[in-house]
Order: sequence, then C-alpha cells, then structure tokens
Amino acid sequence: MPTAEDLFTKLRDHAAETSYLASASALLQWDQQTGMPSAGETFRADQLAYFSTLIHERTTSPEYGEMIDSLATSDLAKDKFSDEGSTIRVLKREYDRERKIPTAIVAELTRVESLAQQAWVACRKANDFKTFAPHLETIFRLKREVAAAIGYVHHPYDALLDEYEPELTTPEANRLLEGLRDALRPIVQAVVQSPNRAPVEILHRSYPIALQHQFGKHIASQMGFAFHGGRLDTTAHPFCETVGPGDIRLTTRYDEHLFGSGLYSILHEAGHGTYEQGLRSNWYGLPPGSACSLGVHESQSRLWENLVGRSRSFWTWCLPLAKAVFPDALHDVSAEQIFFAVNESKPSLIRVEADEVTYNLHIIIRTELEQELLDERLKVPDLPTAWNERYQKYLGITPTSDANGVLQDVHWSAGLIGYFPTYSLGNIYASCLFAAADKALGGLEAMFARGEFAPLLEWLRKNIHEQGQTRPAATLIENACQAKPTHEPLIEHLRTKYGALYDFA
Ligand SMILES: [Zn+2]
Repeated sequence: MPTAEDLFTKLRDHAAETSYLASASALLQWDQQTGMPSAGETFRADQLAYFSTLIHERTTSPEYGEMIDSLATSDLAKDKFSDEGSTIRVLKREYDRERKIPTAIVAELTRVESLAQQAWVACRKANDFKTFAPHLETIFRLKREVAAAIGYVHHPYDALLDEYEPELTTPEANRLLEGLRDALRPIVQAVVQSPNRAPVEILHRSYPIALQHQFGKHIASQMGFAFHGGRLDTTAHPFCETVGPGDIRLTTRYDEHLFGSGLYSILHEAGHGTYEQGLRSNWYGLPPGSACSLGVHESQSRLWENLVGRSRSFWTWCLPLAKAVFPDALHDVSAEQIFFAVNESKPSLIRVEADEVTYNLHIIIRTELEQELLDERLKVPDLPTAWNERYQKYLGITPTSDANGVLQDVHWSAGLIGYFPTYSLGNIYASCLFAAADKALGGLEAMFARGEFAPLLEWLRKNIHEQGQTRPAATLIENACQAKPTHEPLIEHLRTKYGALYDFA
C-alpha cells in the first residue's frame, strides 16, 4: 500500500503534467487573439479542442478519481484549509462534479454552444432575436439538465454558479446583489438629476497610440506588475492570460481619441496580472497556487482599475507624468478635471461601456433574468420584453433594438450561465478589501498621491494572492477584512466619490 504522502506526490506529478498541457493551450489561445493569421483559424480551433479533450481525460479518468478518493480519507485531508487538505478538498469537489454530468450532455452542449455562438454573431448584426431564440432555449434546457445531474440545495442556479464561484449559494449571491441594487438606484437617480457635467472632451483629444502604449506600461509597472514576468500586447477584446509562472500576458486596445480606453483596460488587466504573479509558483496548477474564484479575480482587476486608478489622489500623482508624455492634449488640464472626466457617470445601454455606478445594474439585470429563465418563470420568447422593462426600471432607459439590448453579450450563447454575477461580486469584494487595507495601512490615498502602491500590493499578496484557493471566496474575504462581505463598502465609496462630483450627499 502506498502511503498518503506517496499518493500526494503522485497527485502533484499528475497535476504538473496537466499544467504543461494547459499552459500550451493558453499560449495557443493568446497567439490566436493577438497575432495569428486569420487563415489559421480552423486548424487552431481543432488543435485547441484536442488539447481540451486531453486535459478533460486527465482530470476525469478513473485512476485519477481513485487517487483523490483515497487521499480524501487520509490524514492529509483532515485540515481542509491546509495546502494538502485544500488540494484534496477542491480537486475532489471538481472531480465529483465532472463525474455527475453525463458525457452525452457535455458533448451536446459543446455542439449547441458552437452553433449558438455563430448564430449570435449573425443575429446581433441583423437585430434578429427570433432566429436566436431556439438556440437559447436549447442551452437553458441543457443547463437545467446539468443542474439536475449535479444536484442543488436551493435553486438549480446553485449548481451553475458553483462552477465560477465555488461554494457560493444562490440565496447568498442574491442577498449581496439585491442589497447592492437597492442602494444603487437612488445614486443613479441623483447623478441623472445633477446639473454637473464631466469634462469628457479632454479624453477625446489626440493621444498617439505608440505613446499610450509606453505610458500604460509605465503606470502598470509603477502599480507593481512585473514586466520581467509578463508582457503587454494589443487585441480586440482585452484579457490576461497566464502561460505559466513567470509568464503572465496582458492585452489591451487603443483608440487615439479615447484616452481612458487603453489606460483603464491596462490597469484592469494588470490587476488580474498582479494576482497571477502573486500566486505561489511552487503550487502552480494546484488549488493553493490557483486563483480563488472568478469573483476574487475580478476584485483584483476592479480594485486597481477603479479604486486606485480612478481615485483623485491617483491623478494628483499621475497627471504630471501624463503631461510629460502628452503635452499637447493635457497642457491646460487640472487633476480635478481629469479626475471628473474619467469618472463620468450616466445610464447607458451597453454593459461593457458602463461606468462604475451603473455597471452593476447591468449585471444584476442579467443575473435576475438568467435565474428566471432557468427555473422557467420567464420564457425565452418573452425575454426581450423582460430585458427592456428591467432596463427602464433600474436605469431609466429602454434599448432601441435587441442588438443593443438582449443580444449584446456573447455569454449566454457560449453557455456561460451563472458567470455574470462574478463581475459584481468582484466589485463588492474589491471595496471590502480596499476598505480593510486602508484601515490596516493608514490612508492609502496619501500614498497614491506620492505614487506609492507597494504597501497595498503587499497587503493583497499576503491576504489574497498567497492564500490561493485554500478556502472559499467568502471565507477568504472575511479573513482578510475581519468581516463578512457586504455591498456596503462599495456603496459608501460610490456615495463619497460621486456625491462630491455630482453634488449630492
Ligand atoms: Zn476582468
């Protein structure tokens, strides 16, 4: 009989080999999104599908399952938050989950999602919800079957949410999001009613793209993203890809006449990147060296993008640097003006263009609707009407077409049901963490005004990054903040900042 320690070593070796495949696949995907010739698309898609089959086989094989099952009853599993214990706990959850979903449903979903995404591209272009609807019906029907196969306590949504935000239940997610929704609506109204206007014209002046690239890299490195272990390239839809320890790839896009677009997507992706750089590399590919959840990942990007990069003190420090790079565009601009310009708030139809105040309402609308579709309170043909009504109710605006309404996001066609809430959970966690770090470190804003970001990054390293996936997100945040996550720090932050800009208390 091998000892538990021997088995654990075998498990680590197995995970290391899986991570080599995952890393190769990540590099292929990065290449696909940054510079691959378009004629290579078909071969690359087949190649990536083959890699994902290999990875799937390795993480669902009976031998692998036996290894995890015997470790689960060993002494190593006793402390479920230790490195070994959390590895066994998380891998067993994932393995059991995978094993419960019938192979036929997995294959059917893969096929349906691929067709649905193609249909979505065409239907969005043609503003044609009717042709898209049957695809959406099939996806939600299959997702209901997945939820039934996995099992759930409160709502079928539990089983889907768990894939992105492990161990978070639907009632708990809804408690956080409903609290946020109810507190946000009066803030949106106060902003709309204010006569104050952000001087956004500043951002539409000419900012040469080559200079934006240099400048963005400089700011990201000042924030703490280590470029000896990463790089920055351009793409259509910015993302951060981990190829392996010491190789974290950020991407962004630039618009010469929209200064904020390039800079803030760099700060956002660099936030994801600093998290990946702070994970323990000796546990790479295993839970102690992995990100905790999508919500926690998004908390790191939102924290650097919004709570740092859109703060008044950030611009006190950053404006002189920006003026040196873009003298023509910024010579007559004050820190207060650019601070207001990058914090303009107004209700809009498109989620990805939404500001810090209104963004979460876009997410909450999607989360509510996908739960209603899943439990069939809402039927797919009625979705566009429900979507438009909810936009009118929460944001005071109605989409002028399905293309800029219900058809705007790729997520549902890609089978990503239960994914949307992780964006708002990220914003909630970010504000909880920021408030706790501010208290522990004594005045972050004064540090930002001097360009000092290292104390905040160190705090995040210790409390979040180095903890990996040793515990669920809610416990991780609670340990870091000495309080359970709530929407209140986010609302407090928005009221203070936007109350000052738009003159309401
Ligand atoms: Zn993100």
